[in-house]
Amino acid sequence: MRRKLAAGNWKMNGTGAELAELAALAQSHPAPEGTDILICPPATLLSRAADTTRGGPVQVGGQDCHAAASGAHTGDLSAAMLLDAGASAVILGHSERRADHGETDAIVLAKAEAAIAAGLLAVVCLGETLEEREAGKTLSVVGTQLAGSVPEGASGATLVVAYEPVWAIGTGKVPTLEQIGEVHDFLRAELTNRFGAETAEGIRLLYGGSVKPGNAAEIFAVSNVDGALVGGASLTAADFSPIISALE
Ligand code: PEP
Repeated sequence: MRRKLAAGNWKMNGTGAELAELAALAQSHPAPEGTDILICPPATLLSRAADTTRGGPVQVGGQDCHAAASGAHTGDLSAAMLLDAGASAVILGHSERRADHGETDAIVLAKAEAAIAAGLLAVVCLGETLEEREAGKTLSVVGTQLAGSVPEGASGATLVVAYEPVWAIGTGKVPTLEQIGEVHDFLRAELTNRFGAETAEGIRLLYGGSVKPGNAAEIFAVSNVDGALVGGASLTAADFSPIISALE
């Protein structure tokens, strides 16, 4: 049985004052059964976020890491550095990084390998653009991204896959439940082809893109949706807490 996962991506939002939201979140969900809670704040907050949440139900993670262990990479952070700051997971290949930083599947793959080798849970993101969906290419696009971004030997203990249609991120637009189900069933089948049924059944598939308190429950009822990766609605406990409750 896969544990559910409510993951929050704060993106480039939050300073020390917003750490109070983590404490409020932990208070609202003291012992979530069968559900994991992950918040990925900006790297500047990681170690303070880890201090704030230590011993409680909320885990913290990074939003990116470099594929190399160390070296001349100004401004970058290695997976081991995130771990050292208190992270247990890292988001990789988010569409904003793929678009803003030219991250290809090969780059995301190298980062995922580094993250897993360092002991982090790799949350690998993929998803189609609106143009690709309208051209009927959704499954081939996400299939290619999955094949190219997910490392050999991955398992439920090391990998989470987040399906995030690019056109649904931060836009208030959400695919139909049928569209979400179609992609999640496809991703599960692709994972099964690659890793075998037993391993594939252990890998959690998150949906991401304009998840809100008002639509979380119906999305979580879709087959093969094991939780959500949430941007805007993860910034406050008031918004994120009902999303977690919809999973519990
Ligand atoms: C995201 O950034 O991964 C995301 C899904 O954002 P939002 O929930 O704001 O659409």
